[in-house]
Amino acid sequence: MQFKDRIVVALGGNALGNTPEEQLELVKHTAKPIVDLIEAGHEVILAHGNGPQVGMINLALSTAANSPAKTPEMPFPECGAMSQGYIGYHLQNAIREELLNRNMHIPVATVITQVIVDKNDPAFQHPTKPVGAFYSEEAAQKLIEEKGYHMVEDSGRGWRRVVASPKPVDVAEKETIKTLVEQGQVVITVGGGGIPVYETGNRLIGIPAVIDKDFASAKIAEILDADYLIILTAVEQVAINFGKPDEKWLANLSLEEADQYIKEGHFAPGSMLPKVQAAMAFAGSKKGRKALITSLEKAKEGIEGKTGTIIA
Ligand code: ADP
Ligand code: MG
Repeated sequence: MQFKDRIVVALGGNALGNTPEEQLELVKHTAKPIVDLIEAGHEVILAHGNGPQVGMINLALSTAANSPAKTPEMPFPECGAMSQGYIGYHLQNAIREELLNRNMHIPVATVITQVIVDKNDPAFQHPTKPVGAFYSEEAAQKLIEEKGYHMVEDSGRGWRRVVASPKPVDVAEKETIKTLVEQGQVVITVGGGGIPVYETGNRLIGIPAVIDKDFASAKIAEILDADYLIILTAVEQVAINFGKPDEKWLANLSLEEADQYIKEGHFAPGSMLPKVQAAMAFAGSKKGRKALITSLEKAKEGIEGKTGTIIA
């Protein structure tokens, strides 16, 4: 990595944890490799997932809405916005402190981010992402009839709502993000893949859907003309024959090899596949752009080129 690269870092579920206490503790560790990059002179833009958090918010509010308290039913895009605020708060709090501990006075802020999707994205015909609570078959039928939800049986654990996972097309707040980055500020954006919206005239309308955070991170990296996309997850490298006796960890992955390995089914859909695809989309979008997939724990070594998988 050269002096002053522009880097989008996408954080996975293991960077955040499952409860507010756990998250507040984990983000202290998460802040370290982020601040290492900033200290080295790089411009850092942070993106993150929100699966467990938006699930918790959605579940809590739908439970309260169906209780005697009768709180208002909270739509899914609003739950996504809440999760961006909740996670962004913890991240900006921890990164600020880590910066100050190193005597670096750099502002950090979260931008609540709307990500524009195509209303005609074929993904809307095939909702795949389970969200929120588990229901009995009877309760699920009721939701299908009353609310038009798509409900599926989730591996013997009960019925769950599924929403579509459309591809990100543009980021509504991109000019704000760009301005902050160019001013040398640290920005947390496209949390949970962003709040999915579609455009109609001057209006952006929120949709109950989930944009994959890996794809949204690649999109904002492209928009910001970043040099690197770093995806930090639970594994140190990408493997072929993952979990099998002939498992092989990869230090480098060309776009051609990645294509071939995808065809051969080496990357699990919903976990490693979107990361490899997002890395390919970014690396393939302009000459010189590189993506790195490694673990949060090995982030520092990965960035120094000692481990991780480079996709270029
Ligand atoms: P995140 O929350 O960071 O998005 P995911 O659980 O969605 O994490 O994806 C990372 C997981 O993908 C790894 O922990 C690993 O178990 C799994 N995985 C699936 N296929 C592969 C592969 N080919 N190489 C490495 N990890 C893989
Ligand atoms: Mg994931």
